[in-house]
Amino acid sequence: MSDDEPLSRRGLLKKTVGVAGSAALLAQTGAFGQAPKTITRKRFKAWISRGEGPGRTTLQDATLRPIGGRQVVVRTEATNLCYSNVPAVLGIQPPAATRPNPLAAPPGARRLNDMAVIQGHGGIGVVEAVGPDVRRVQVGDRVCVSGTPHCGVCYRCLRGRSDMCQFLSAIGPDDLVAIADLKDGTPVYQNSHIGGLAELMVTFEEWVVPIFTKLPAADVGMACSCVAVAGLGATTAHALMQIEPASSVAVVGCGPLGLSAVQGARIAGATTIIAIDPISVRRDAAKKVGATHVLDPNVEGDGLVQRVRSLTGWPTSRLWSGGRNPGGRRPGSGADYVIEAAGAEHVPPKLAQSPDPTGILPMQQAYQMCSLGGQLITTSLVRGDISLPGNLFSFGGVTHHGGQAGGCSPMKDIPRFVEMLEKGQYDAKTLATTVVPIEGMLEAYEEVAYRATITGLMTA
Ligand SMILES: [Zn+2]
Ligand SMILES: [Zn+2]
Repeated sequence: MSDDEPLSRRGLLKKTVGVAGSAALLAQTGAFGQAPKTITRKRFKAWISRGEGPGRTTLQDATLRPIGGRQVVVRTEATNLCYSNVPAVLGIQPPAATRPNPLAAPPGARRLNDMAVIQGHGGIGVVEAVGPDVRRVQVGDRVCVSGTPHCGVCYRCLRGRSDMCQFLSAIGPDDLVAIADLKDGTPVYQNSHIGGLAELMVTFEEWVVPIFTKLPAADVGMACSCVAVAGLGATTAHALMQIEPASSVAVVGCGPLGLSAVQGARIAGATTIIAIDPISVRRDAAKKVGATHVLDPNVEGDGLVQRVRSLTGWPTSRLWSGGRNPGGRRPGSGADYVIEAAGAEHVPPKLAQSPDPTGILPMQQAYQMCSLGGQLITTSLVRGDISLPGNLFSFGGVTHHGGQAGGCSPMKDIPRFVEMLEKGQYDAKTLATTVVPIEGMLEAYEEVAYRATITGLMTA
């Protein structure tokens, strides 16, 4: 843009903010604002990740930048140490991809590893400041900074799929906005506009959900974590599938997401809940929170799918009497609903190896243990491509849902999850087995990485 060219509002914002994506996020203003309360130059502690390899994450002092538009400053109370953030926090290099990713960033694009980034997948806290265009929350509100945004007005939100809200498409390195500076002037960004591993989170109002509860931070942080939201969303949000009372559910993988799905299945009224995990502590936790059967995939081996089929029968298998066994060559029924929550291992776990560190085998098995006509939600991150028996895939009647956040609509569902916690339906304490102050974050993340704990939370 030349100096004498008229400066459009968009151009001005671009010039001011410097990055097209962040300008777009800042430029959309609402009609009914509130008196802004902004704070600047506030110092806060933040775990900053930058560079390559172990040691890339260090605790530093940062200074908050001025906020504007729809930005919200949240004082962190608790944030969960999500397993999918392990490589970024601990500097573990993921194995090279087996084939090029057609959606990869173009050459020359900004790289997250070169930037100073506060990692984390959101958390809970109290609103300290709001930009002039914020309508959803006020200073002093307790909020969940959700891993998934919910604007309510984009194409996907309007079609009932706010788990895919289009704000999710604006979280790449080029979209991030600097929210603070380090002592040497280095700008500080946050993972996905949310961060969490710091005393403050600065986000846009689309990512905040007001929650009106006085329960302890660690419990609320657990119930509102990205993993609990995905597990409870898959089983109780009813966006993707509706678990019927007296149905059968299998949950493959019992980390905090799977254990939240076990609880959601119980809350939804399932009467057969089969929890599958190689780690015995996790199987014990599954029994405690609602599983009716637990299976060790290392013990079941190749018989795992058949074992689930045999556990999901019905009082009768007679064809004209309401029997649910299709008969023929495939004895047993298969679960009405399956939630896959195993995923790839970033490092070999300390307590028990899983049958396949890429996470592919558990995902294939999850598909195959679904009853003909049943439904499957997959939620985990795996390494590689999935192959399935072609005919089962083609006309086996299994409906598969890609379960980003379990299909949850944050503004509709997160307050319900808090209510489940309030009324004792959701057990947060059994899942949050490591709770540490901000200084203990890195050691706690190691425990999470090696699956030596069910999940970790940092309180600030
Ligand atoms: Zn997460
Ligand atoms: Zn939206």
